[in-house]
Amino acid sequence: MSRLVAVSNRVSSVRGAPLAGGLAVALVDALRENQGLWFGWSGKTVDETSQTPTLTREGEVTLATVDLTHDDHEAYYSGFANRCLWPLFHFRLDLTGYDRGHFDAYQRVNQRFARSLLPLLREDDLVWVHDYHLFPLGSELRRIGVRQRLGFFLHIPFPPRELLTTLPQHQTLVRALFDYDLVGFQIEDDVKRLAAYVEQDLGGKVGPGWMEAFGKRLRIEAFPVGIDTARYHDFAFSSHGQREWIRLREFLRGREQIIGVDRLDYTKGLVRRMNAYELLLDSQPDSHGRITYLQIAPISRGEVTAYQDFRRELEQHAAGINGKFGQVDWVPIRYVNEAIPRRRLAGLYRASRIGLVTPMRDGMNLVAKEYVAAQDEKDPGVLVLSRFAGAAQQMGEALLVNPYDTEDVASALERARTMNIDERRNRHQALMRGLLDEDVSNWRQRFLGALKQND
Ligand code: UDP
Repeated sequence: MSRLVAVSNRVSSVRGAPLAGGLAVALVDALRENQGLWFGWSGKTVDETSQTPTLTREGEVTLATVDLTHDDHEAYYSGFANRCLWPLFHFRLDLTGYDRGHFDAYQRVNQRFARSLLPLLREDDLVWVHDYHLFPLGSELRRIGVRQRLGFFLHIPFPPRELLTTLPQHQTLVRALFDYDLVGFQIEDDVKRLAAYVEQDLGGKVGPGWMEAFGKRLRIEAFPVGIDTARYHDFAFSSHGQREWIRLREFLRGREQIIGVDRLDYTKGLVRRMNAYELLLDSQPDSHGRITYLQIAPISRGEVTAYQDFRRELEQHAAGINGKFGQVDWVPIRYVNEAIPRRRLAGLYRASRIGLVTPMRDGMNLVAKEYVAAQDEKDPGVLVLSRFAGAAQQMGEALLVNPYDTEDVASALERARTMNIDERRNRHQALMRGLLDEDVSNWRQRFLGALKQND
């Protein structure tokens, strides 16, 4: 059996730490089953780096990490990846920064990653590169002679050509995709957006499952990432989950809880979400004292200015709503920046009548799936989900909303709050069936199966 080598920007311990990112959660499960190697950045910044990776064994998985210099970290990670690609690929031209120096650092770090990884590779390895930090890694590996199968998976959305072409290096970035044997995007719409670019901007050809440009042929498909549905359900009913559930039910004393769980990121629609909650409270006075909203929002990318501004705005908003509606014994919003471990989170989801997931744009959104998986099928809660999350393509039985339309979200909240048990059960059953069929092992097997077959 081929060994799996996963490469992602960040490598984190695979031992139970709170994993506040969808990519980490999905990867750890895949590597454990495959005795894999996980290569990437250690998370440390230093004055001078060494080319030789540090190897650590954690159970079945080997971690291989390299450090970054302070300058490279600033320009490659905070700069090109998170000030340029992240906002651009989430359709936020207004927040996108274009800096050629940052792009050079991005190329340089990818080149360095490729050189450090090379000596660790075995002949029959399958190399699976993850996400927007590493578009050029495949080309860099090919340049130094790697012939192994190379797959690339993009966890975030792919932008429309009209936005992509604002990036001075759009062609270099897309050309890099053609050095992989297989490229996976989250949903069909992402594939279509790249197809439009390949046809109209590159004069290339496109067919079902393939694209041709730069004299090369690329296999590309949508592989919507899943969760470990059965295990997540068990988490919610395990001793940890149960403890959390009991604690919260006692605290709530019969109040119904809305839960939101998101990295603190401007793509997650948190301000508009709070506006929708405010509108619900304004329009449904009978909900006062009967409903409460818990927003868990661990801080992320705190060094990027756009995140600092957004955080301040959100804090003011939450405080404003509490000031306007709060009563001596009722706090309408509890806003928490602490990262909660996955097992505890499962109990919190289970204790919440409504899962509120309203990103303005999201590659997939695992929280939506976890919320559904953690429910008690006898008395399940209702998922309110943005139609602009990749997950909406598979989760049509949720209450799908337009997150830009505050009234739409507020009325979905009211509908969820008053939904009868039969409708809740029917919707939950259908959603759960989909999540069990298309879980994380299905995702991994589909991607790796396709990568192996790619002759
Ligand atoms: N998460 C967590 N603890 C937290 C907040 C989030 O473990 O306090 C996890 C969450 O359970 C989910 C992941 O982080 O598995 C977030 O993935 P998602 O796809 O929703 O968003 P991303 O952060 O990748 O944009």
